[in-house]
Amino acid sequence: MYGYTTFHEGLMNNLIRSVRAGVSSHAYIFEGDAGLGIQSSAKLFAAALTCVNKSNAPCGSCPSCIQAGADTNPDIIYVEKPKDRKTIGVEPIRTVNDDAAVRPFSSARKVYIINEGDILTAEAQNALLKTLEEPPEYAVFIIIVENSSVLLPTVLSRSVLIHFPPVPDSIIEKYVTEKYPDELYRLPFLKKYCEGIPGMIDSIIADENFESLRSASLEKLSKLLSSDKIDAYAVQRFLDENKDEAEKIIDFWISYLRDILAFQMYAEGSVINVDKTDLLRTMSSKFEPKLVVTGINELLTAKKMLARFVNLKALSLRAALKIRV
Ligand SMILES: [Zn+2]
Repeated sequence: MYGYTTFHEGLMNNLIRSVRAGVSSHAYIFEGDAGLGIQSSAKLFAAALTCVNKSNAPCGSCPSCIQAGADTNPDIIYVEKPKDRKTIGVEPIRTVNDDAAVRPFSSARKVYIINEGDILTAEAQNALLKTLEEPPEYAVFIIIVENSSVLLPTVLSRSVLIHFPPVPDSIIEKYVTEKYPDELYRLPFLKKYCEGIPGMIDSIIADENFESLRSASLEKLSKLLSSDKIDAYAVQRFLDENKDEAEKIIDFWISYLRDILAFQMYAEGSVINVDKTDLLRTMSSKFEPKLVVTGINELLTAKKMLARFVNLKALSLRAALKIRV
């Protein structure tokens, strides 16, 4: 779309139409999961906002559009997390406030794209609020977040919230067909597993070990649910051997267990691992649904622990030994 990748053409068309009609806000929150290409959609919107040909923005041919396309438009400013920090603090936002006081270089507007808005500190948001309360007429802020509820209500109330939902299967299918024609053989699985997030397709295909680890995880699934101590240690060993992939393994197990549950509930249509159905169906008759549900819950807890950098040995023990009911 206008030379930009966006998976949300309808939504972007509406936004662009409003810019052409002269209706725009000073602050937008673009909310949605990582992997939905929201940054690219934000760039497209910034191009439309800065284009000098208002009636057909982004025209693609004015100096502003050409620079926007090349990522060199001085009136489109990216605000990123400083490399050595875990949050976006007040300093980069103060710089933004100072910069916003200066008129655009050559475009109609000055657009600030704040990436990872989820990690803006409260202090940074309060600083931003100063500009949002009395914005210069040319300034537009686009704050990209995964979850807008982390933002202060005062920031939210001054912004237009645009939610980017996961995309339909048809768009995933088109994406894989055009970008990865050699991977079409596993499209049914990819479509189910990525749950409408195109970026997940990229990570899966770039990950050469993905399929072998997925299969190895399935082999260990029976052991994970077993009450035998030797099986439990085998699971622990497997996790120890694949320390860096623990989160991925846990995700595989969760998706397998959910599939098993789907078979048990006669909901085969919601099975994700469509290429492993024979084995999963067999397992669905072997394990009690109660055990499967406990397994899912324990793995979800283990995943949370892993996110908090809990010692992996403790984690693998928990996963391997505690699931049994
Ligand atoms: Zn233009």
